[in-house]
Amino acid sequence: MKKGTLLIHNGHDYDPGTGALGVPIIQTSTFAKLSFSEDQEFDYARSGNPTRKALEETIALLEGGEYGYAFSSGMAAAASVLGIFAAGDHIITAADIYGGTYRIFEVFYKRWGLNHTFVDASRMEEIEAALTPQTKAIFVETPSNPLFKITDLKACASFARAHNLITIVDNTFMTPYLQRPLEAGCDIVIHSATKFLGGHSDVISGLAVARNRALGKRIYAVQNSFGAVPGPWDMFLVMRGIKTLKARMEESQKTALKLARWLSSDKRVEAVYYPGLDCFPGKAVHEGQADGPGAVFSFETRTEEAAVKFLSSVQYAAAAVSLGGVETIASYPIRMSHAAVPPLERKKLGITGKLIRISAGLEDCDDLMEDFDKALS
Ligand SMILES: *Cc1c(COP(=O)(O)O)cnc(C)c1O
Repeated sequence: MKKGTLLIHNGHDYDPGTGALGVPIIQTSTFAKLSFSEDQEFDYARSGNPTRKALEETIALLEGGEYGYAFSSGMAAAASVLGIFAAGDHIITAADIYGGTYRIFEVFYKRWGLNHTFVDASRMEEIEAALTPQTKAIFVETPSNPLFKITDLKACASFARAHNLITIVDNTFMTPYLQRPLEAGCDIVIHSATKFLGGHSDVISGLAVARNRALGKRIYAVQNSFGAVPGPWDMFLVMRGIKTLKARMEESQKTALKLARWLSSDKRVEAVYYPGLDCFPGKAVHEGQADGPGAVFSFETRTEEAAVKFLSSVQYAAAAVSLGGVETIASYPIRMSHAAVPPLERKKLGITGKLIRISAGLEDCDDLMEDFDKALS
């Protein structure tokens, strides 16, 4: 089965009890004991729910892992995965990760004794240099956020294997439709399903996939104990979103590529960051591990004033936080996704007031170009 077919025929094609094509929403907190002589799969909905299980099995299948887990948000997924580590452990972390993930590392887990070193994960030598005897994992996002630095997943995973580290990849920007980190040898994939997987800007949700049973059991222990679990309605919405992922991603990616190419040749634009552009650093590595450049890119205007003006003038793009919806979203990392990163750190990373991140939606590209052109002027 090819990956587009797998999105539809994912083992939950229909409900075996009723034949329903939509996954049944089992809205319950508890399950009556049907027999005291046999074990029962579901007993309390924090521990497990059939609607949630459908999505957990689906994401495991799509990512090529053994076990999937659903959470109430992408941050809950990331925080719960980090919950498998102990005080004194050390994690090598890409510096330009999602701002919220930066915050849980820097503010919370550090306070509880889980240490980290931020590195430029597009440089293997920086990852290697950060290794300590306490290092237990590497945490990356590729392409990174919001400057689209590329981590070589195979090189990273083989370094990790050699040193007994767990490689964790936030695959939100790519989705399993474009990139499957477990196939490159990584161990855990996390997602904000709020973005492309849900796909319609109408649900907050997160996922984690474990390569094997041992890791899966550790994540499940956190999911069940801490209980950052999603409700069944949200699981239904993400299941529904996944069915159209191919059509949405292909179309949005086409638009992103057109917009990025056009902007990179426009005098009003200083730089465009997108692995779909020729001569973009890391393009070859990205193409070796992903089936496309994705639907998100960022660009810099000449001045901060022009960026603010663009964001307040643009008509079809929603000036908003988030990405991966049917509507084009223009976000301002410095004030939105990366507001939690301290100014000095942001400056070091190159996240300036001129930087705008675009998530291409499903509008007609010509309309978006006309709109962007006016907003830049
Ligand atoms: C949005 C996002 C998150 C956080 O997910 P939420 O669902 O908002 O909690 C994590 N990583 C990336 C790359 C994101 O874009």
